Amino acid sequence: MTETFDVAIVGGGPAGASTALHLVRAEGIRADRIVVVDKARFPRDKPCAGAVSQLGVDTLEAIGVRIEVPFVAMRGVRVRWEGRAGETPCAMGVVIRRTEFDAQLLDAARAEGVVVRDGEGLRAIERTPRGFRLSTTTESIRARLVAACDGAGSTTRKLLGLREPERKGHLYVLDTVPTASDDAPKRGFIDFDLSVLGEGLQGYYWDFPTIIGGAPHVCRGIYHANLAPGSDVKSALARALARRGIDIADVKLRPFSTRPFVPGSTLAQDGLVLVGEAAGIDHATGEGIGQAIVMAGIAARHLARALRTGGSSFDAYAHDVRVSTIGRHMLQSAWLARRVYARTGNPARRLLLRSAFARDAAMRWYNGSSLSWPTKVRLGLGLVSHAFRS
Ligand SMILES: Cc1cc2nc3c(=O)[nH]c(=O)nc-3n(C[C@H](O)[C@H](O)[C@H](O)COP(=O)(O)OP(=O)(O)OC[C@H]3O[C@@H](n4cnc5c(N)ncnc54)[C@H](O)[C@@H]3O)c2cc1C
Repeated sequence: MTETFDVAIVGGGPAGASTALHLVRAEGIRADRIVVVDKARFPRDKPCAGAVSQLGVDTLEAIGVRIEVPFVAMRGVRVRWEGRAGETPCAMGVVIRRTEFDAQLLDAARAEGVVVRDGEGLRAIERTPRGFRLSTTTESIRARLVAACDGAGSTTRKLLGLREPERKGHLYVLDTVPTASDDAPKRGFIDFDLSVLGEGLQGYYWDFPTIIGGAPHVCRGIYHANLAPGSDVKSALARALARRGIDIADVKLRPFSTRPFVPGSTLAQDGLVLVGEAAGIDHATGEGIGQAIVMAGIAARHLARALRTGGSSFDAYAHDVRVSTIGRHMLQSAWLARRVYARTGNPARRLLLRSAFARDAAMRWYNGSSLSWPTKVRLGLGLVSHAFRS
């Protein structure tokens, strides 16, 4: 049997569920004309540190979604490097468990009347004169427009032959109960340890507060932006864990990849938008939940316009993503990752560690604010001063 929809959304994670919710609640598109297909049955496991930026939280609230699953409020950030630590208190959003959070978002879309087909993976997609025909593991769907929200390994991208412009980032993630070294997570601070940079990695080790089954835990892991090949990410993680009194052999560990958002990222084709990690995530931090939610709002606006006008070009969507707050930030991040994680990045790292002003600016930037020129000038002078001291 073939069913026909206006929009087929492939992937029901934060990008897919938020695209559906924005289409219905912000753009007034009929919910029963939208289908979401996901190969997993929800609630599904999604290994992730679960930090959702305040921008992501605010964007959800703007379409009437309040976070109803357990969360830990992020009260600030601590950065560690070269035996020093610098911390800044700041409301930064929340840490959630993805299994719970993603199920809440998809349930909200379902409750609106969106047709949700979880447990049905996309197998094939072909263009037709009136849009697309998608074959899932169990059925065939016709849709005028498609939103590819199927994450880092996007099947939609692969099936349509869209190229990948950049190598993927690598991560390992695990959860443990808090240990004696977790004074920052115990206070609701997210903790970034840059000492892994000295071990040939381009990234950081993290300790985030989280909540599992009502009990405080710490989500730990390592992010390697993978700017150059040949790094041993797992050994670096083993050493970082050992410094916290944890034996890597005692923990359940899983490796993952992320797709970075870079200047050459493909965001659209005729009749198709890529949203969330299918398009790319922040290259410096490896984060993308808030970005996916914001990008979903932009995608929904363009999908709705195309439905109203009968158009199918999404060049304006690609443009609008790139000039949006999250688009600009992710492009700046792709640029910064190459500098901050390089050996020549010492002045930038020292500035972040030693200057409360720099950390405060970084936190405002993380939360979606643009930095004023006086702030940029002061940061630039700080960088020059640390470069001279180095
Ligand atoms: C270890 C780790 C830690 C992370 N920590 C953070 C963090 O703390 N904060 C942050 O902001 N980001 C973090 N990220 C990144 C974050 O997980 C992604 O940015 C986010 O999941 C992107 O959401 P999405 O909806 O685009 O993709 P996903 O959440 O990956 O959702 C894609 C969906 O598509 C479905 N799908 C895939 N293939 C098919 C198919 N063939 N047919 C149908 N459905 C399909 C999948 O089942 C999935 O449900 C982390 C990533 C990793 C790996």
